Amino acid sequence: QKGGVGKTTCTVNLAAGLAKVGQRVLMVDLDPQGNATMGSGVDKRKLALSVYDVLLESASVAEVRVQSPKLVDAGCSYDILGANRELAGAEVELVSMERRERRLKQALTAVMDDYDFVLIDCPPSLSMLTLNGLCCAHGVIVPMQCEYFALEGLADLVNTIKQVHANLNKDLAIIGLLRVMFDPRITLQHQVSEQLKARFAEKVFDTVIPRNVRLAEAPSYGVPGVVFDAASKGAQAYLSFAQEMVTRGQKF
Ligand code: ATP
Ligand code: MG
Repeated sequence: QKGGVGKTTCTVNLAAGLAKVGQRVLMVDLDPQGNATMGSGVDKRKLALSVYDVLLESASVAEVRVQSPKLVDAGCSYDILGANRELAGAEVELVSMERRERRLKQALTAVMDDYDFVLIDCPPSLSMLTLNGLCCAHGVIVPMQCEYFALEGLADLVNTIKQVHANLNKDLAIIGLLRVMFDPRITLQHQVSEQLKARFAEKVFDTVIPRNVRLAEAPSYGVPGVVFDAASKGAQAYLSFAQEMVTRGQKF
């Protein structure tokens, strides 16, 4: 529900990190901004079909998914359900439709056996798109900056997840909280990090993602940070996060 916290950076780097260790991954871009699509090396302006068509049931996942040549060459390719501005229209069109919050779940059922992980990048609002994501997910990964207002935002999100769990998706759980853009020089960040651990215990991932400019530069080259500069601190952190997810993912 929060903007600019690192959701998309987390999604594409985790997707590439998981692919690198041999996991079969589908990345679903549910944000009309299409940042995860572009950041995976797929031009959102040139998509013949997108996740919009999946939601409106005019195309299947198998017809819409694409790969990115750059990621294939780098040996960490994952399938991509791309998004662009067209998706903003789905929001309005879905309102009058049946099973409107279950469209993505329905569509993904057909390809579940093709993947070990399906990662869904959500927009920064609690919209019908986000609800479609939450309705088919087994779990939520919450990227968090360790700042003063972060805990407040987290309370809202936990509430939303409880409601979706109670009313729409009994499988939904928080997989974990991921500390991102961490700057060890800032005392407040350590304090918030400690508060998170005190309050959420094992729900806080062991991996901490540092603030690292290589992760921010990568999207302009159309690849995730772990492909752009695998040796950078940010990439290394996302690679260990992928390992942590392989372990935790068994439960989900
Ligand atoms: P939105 O709500 O708009 O979808 P988001 O939550 O998906 O945003 P990102 O786009 O992933 O957030 O990240 C916001 C900005 O912070 C981007 O410019 C990104 O490159 C940068 N960024 C993300 N993670 C890091 C990091 N660990 N170190 C440095 N910069 C980062
Ligand atoms: Mg985003």
